[in-house]
Amino acid sequence: MDTHVDLGALPVDTSAPVLVTGATGYVAGWIVKALLDAGVTVHAAVRDPGNAQKVQHLQDAADASPGKLRLFASDLLREGSYTEAMRGCRIVVHTASPFVRSVRDPQRDLVDPAVRGTRNVLRTAGEVGGVERVVLTSSVAAMIGDAEDILTYPGRTVTEDSWNTTSSLTREPYSYSKTLAELEAWRIAQEQNRWRLVTVNPGLVIGPALNSAPTSESFTIARQMASGRMRFGAPRVALTVVDVREIAYAHLAAAFLPDAEGRHLLAAESTDIVDLARRLLPAYGSYPLPRRDLPKPLAVALAPAAGLERGYLRRNIGYDLRVDTTKSRRDLGVRYRPAQASMEEMFGQVVGAGGR
Ligand code: NAP
Repeated sequence: MDTHVDLGALPVDTSAPVLVTGATGYVAGWIVKALLDAGVTVHAAVRDPGNAQKVQHLQDAADASPGKLRLFASDLLREGSYTEAMRGCRIVVHTASPFVRSVRDPQRDLVDPAVRGTRNVLRTAGEVGGVERVVLTSSVAAMIGDAEDILTYPGRTVTEDSWNTTSSLTREPYSYSKTLAELEAWRIAQEQNRWRLVTVNPGLVIGPALNSAPTSESFTIARQMASGRMRFGAPRVALTVVDVREIAYAHLAAAFLPDAEGRHLLAAESTDIVDLARRLLPAYGSYPLPRRDLPKPLAVALAPAAGLERGYLRRNIGYDLRVDTTKSRRDLGVRYRPAQASMEEMFGQVVGAGGR
């Protein structure tokens, strides 16, 4: 596994600590490791610093690097709980937000932590002196909801100007939570002039995890592929994918490049589930991978068994997804690796952990 995030000539500032919220997460693990490897002191805000299973990989990364790790107990829904962790930091990287698709109460389980949590972290950035930049992990989900959004975009292409207008509490509530959280972040950013907001908006993140038991929704597709749940095929819903190490690099570029500004769409390619599974055939062809697109009526009929909503598939099967990633390449210097290697490493981890 390629465990190195190549920072190239990024002007990494090691003179002040960097706060990373949600440090236990899949995406954050690679951000923390890249910072530690570069010699930065990381203030890692986590819900439970005493949970060894969730923080051991961060400690291991710190032990093997010149950077230092300090753990802080913080919760998105506990006002003021990021204050201590933010002291002395010029840069705040706010990744914490629930990334789960099946929830009982979308307002309580997704929207509240995403939006109130963003407000909590960003307000603290205004109160604790010295914060100059906040990098927010948003998502392509804040740029596009249902496929009908694309029909309204110039050139039918998703760009940094695109906003998701179709998600709601009852339609893809995770995407709704990310949209509301990013909108709230921009609203708060515009009310002040102490720190600059820069957002990273990734497509579906793929590639290996540093944490031993990742809970990120990113792993759902790989686990479903391994389990045989899709052995008769998969719905052709377009999605974009990007390797987790490129996402870590992009966060550091957004944090340290003096001129970084605005939103950044991050995607290596547009694809779909069967196309992703095809990349796994050379190495993992003995697994019950999906090998064909399910016809739309069949996919819609079988949706609940696959944990999907019928309406979601009705609205989204059969569309192409065009994205323009010029800004992330040009302004942040992101270089995208092909999805094949990322998928192989991720799938290898899933089946190695008994995920078949
Ligand atoms: P993840 O592994 O589930 O990470 C989510 C993080 O949020 C965890 O550290 C979790 O802490 C934390 N969190 C959740 N609720 C919290 C609360 N109430 N208080 C404090 N922390 C809380 O998922 P991920 O994939 O790394 O996602 C990280 C970020 O990237 C999210 O903002 C997500 O929306 C965004 N993103 C992810 C993808 C992707 O494909 N993975 C794509 C686009 C954007 P615990 O460990 O304590 O639960």
